[in-house]
Amino acid sequence: MKKVAALVASIAFGSIASANLTVVTTTEDLASIARSVGGANVKVSAIVKGVRDPHFIDAKPGDMSKLRGADLFLVVGLDLEVGYESALIQGSRNTRIAIGRPGHLYCSEGIPVLDKATAAVSRSQGDVHPNGNPHYWLDPYNARVIAGNVAERMAKLDPTNASGYRSRAAAFESAVDSAMFGASAVGAIGAEKLWAWSSAGNLASQVRSTGKTLGGWAAKMEPNRGQSIVTYHKSWNYFAKRFGLKVVDELEPKPGISPTPGHIAQVVRTINAERVRMILQEPFYSTRSGQTVASRTSAKLVIAPLSVGHTAAAKDYVSLMDSIVDLVSGALRS
Ligand SMILES: [Zn+2]
Repeated sequence: MKKVAALVASIAFGSIASANLTVVTTTEDLASIARSVGGANVKVSAIVKGVRDPHFIDAKPGDMSKLRGADLFLVVGLDLEVGYESALIQGSRNTRIAIGRPGHLYCSEGIPVLDKATAAVSRSQGDVHPNGNPHYWLDPYNARVIAGNVAERMAKLDPTNASGYRSRAAAFESAVDSAMFGASAVGAIGAEKLWAWSSAGNLASQVRSTGKTLGGWAAKMEPNRGQSIVTYHKSWNYFAKRFGLKVVDELEPKPGISPTPGHIAQVVRTINAERVRMILQEPFYSTRSGQTVASRTSAKLVIAPLSVGHTAAAKDYVSLMDSIVDLVSGALRS
């Protein structure tokens, strides 16, 4: 009886000492990072669930009511959510999460943006990313930047727990560092130096010169450095840049436009000319074009998760990257 009473008391206490911040994110990747940074001080939910294309979702009343009680709305930005972000914010009738308010954060702050258009382009030309590539979360360094952005915003909204947000962000960064380079290389050399070498493209030789051993994602991807790949959408450019892969073409003729027979024929020529061994594709597009191209070339079609929750194994940010690195390095090795 006593035991039951204690259990009831602890459940009740749990709900009283509930989250200080209610956080809603667009994607599961941001939700995963927000959970790592927020710990027990936050309650986090994502809007884009399951294997969904994050560019195009319908703003549902349930999502709007979720946002009605939110203290913080985390958005990838760079127009990824341009099709539904305003509808969600307006529908929520929660002015605290309006763009520009402390309760709204574009997590792209401080990210060096890839694929910025050199000439003026507009969405009417079919390009869903006229302001640069929003798929920055697939460079693990950028996940550290996101965690820092999220921690500072949580600290601003909930100053009492500021030190907790900052220390958990630091712990998340350390976990990413170890997963990226191996704990022993991080311990011996230091993460900042390793990231700088990685960005300069000479990580392996620099680590070798110290007599230490590289581990983690970087070691798994190292043998593939310099290889050419084709992707379906421009989702993998940050990942490719970090790990030294060259994206030579996409199955989409333009971001957001489905493959056409003429473009497919061109991709086949490119793959044969550049000896491309892999077509890397997101899990929410039709595989028909990829299969056609694979059947006419020696490239393999590889479907990889783009976000947390796309596969059972990709249950948080680090395991998402584990899955992608294993799939890509496995396909390029064999
Ligand atoms: Zn995109």
